[in-house]
Amino acid sequence: VPVLRNIGRLVTCREPGGQGAVHAIEEGAIAWREGRIVWVGKQKQLPARHDDGQRWDAQGQLVVPGLVDAHTHLCFGGWRADDFVARIQGQTYQQIARRGGGIHSTVRKTRTADTEALYARCRLFLRQMLALGVTTVEAKSGYGLDAQTEARVLAVYAALATRGPQRLVPTYLGAHVVPHEYKGRRASYVALVEQAIALFADEGLARFVDVFIEDGAFTVTEARRLAAAARMAGLGVKLHVDQLSAGGGAELAAEVGAVSADHLEHVSKRAIARLAKAGTVAVSLPIATMYLGTPPLPARALIQAGVPVAVATDFNPGTAPSFHLPLALTLAATLQKMTPAEALKGATLYGARAVGLDGEVGSLEAGKAADFVVLDAPDEDHFVYHFRPSANLLTVIGGVARWRAGGFQENAGAAQ
Ligand SMILES: [Zn+2]
Repeated sequence: VPVLRNIGRLVTCREPGGQGAVHAIEEGAIAWREGRIVWVGKQKQLPARHDDGQRWDAQGQLVVPGLVDAHTHLCFGGWRADDFVARIQGQTYQQIARRGGGIHSTVRKTRTADTEALYARCRLFLRQMLALGVTTVEAKSGYGLDAQTEARVLAVYAALATRGPQRLVPTYLGAHVVPHEYKGRRASYVALVEQAIALFADEGLARFVDVFIEDGAFTVTEARRLAAAARMAGLGVKLHVDQLSAGGGAELAAEVGAVSADHLEHVSKRAIARLAKAGTVAVSLPIATMYLGTPPLPARALIQAGVPVAVATDFNPGTAPSFHLPLALTLAATLQKMTPAEALKGATLYGARAVGLDGEVGSLEAGKAADFVVLDAPDEDHFVYHFRPSANLLTVIGGVARWRAGGFQENAGAAQ
């Protein structure tokens, strides 16, 4: 049984207690067998039966669960620095979309990109995310829109999931925007997405269905129909809601029992109460808030109402061109007024819950996967406060070291 010892502070991020309760252990240790945690506690209480194998040394540092990025648009062609500049010069998201920028320009570039190139690019992104301590990644399609390109993108995700080392959760976001070729025929496009949901579910290519509910994207009525199709196909539902305006999307998320409602910058009080009752996770995306210069979601009101708030990147070429989840944590603190402990729980256990994996990852407790990171910080407050290119020293997935910082040696001098 391998054991990680000499942990200065071990933040388990387990329940109970809600958003701010992270159940930290000073001078902790973790033991695991065949990729799964068998014991977590104070090192001096480590049972002798777990102390017979490989010894790893955390060198007195902070250990937290592997980070979960519960919302990314990982696979896309091209970039959109031109939109970034246009927004700085005062154009709105909708104005940029109307003149051919925005999502449609990424759709053109994704459709013409070859599959190998898309795969190689995602590999590179994931490699860099691994270095930041991100061990589980939700990945949405939605830049192909036509059935053929969406299938190619979901196949890229399936190949990446097989290759590892990160856990990948694929989401079909055909309902991202109505493609140009369906202009004036949106009902036919919604019908096409409905068929694709059944097909991708059959092929095991998607675990969730997502719909972007917004002026210029999809209506609540269309989303309700697609959510029903997802349910019928055995897939979970995630929804992009209330980002640019309050349009009843959060209420729909509660109504259909969505696993998550994402964005929520304009969520109403009434909708917050419904999300709490439904047990839906609110996924906050503070990097998008920062890039758009818009008000953040009301994290305090959500937390007070008992809605778990996840923190994710929204990595995409338009509104959040960064996969830096630790940056999102710092922004969750400064923009959303979440404490570092609350933000960390949002990128671990509640992130895992937002992708339906909270029985498997997201906290450090016996029975869960041995996914954890060693961070160069005395505690979670310091980690979120002292923003750096990376504070990560070691990324472990399923009990296997998958990335380490230069100079860090977890088994230095360890007895076998
Ligand atoms: Zn998004």
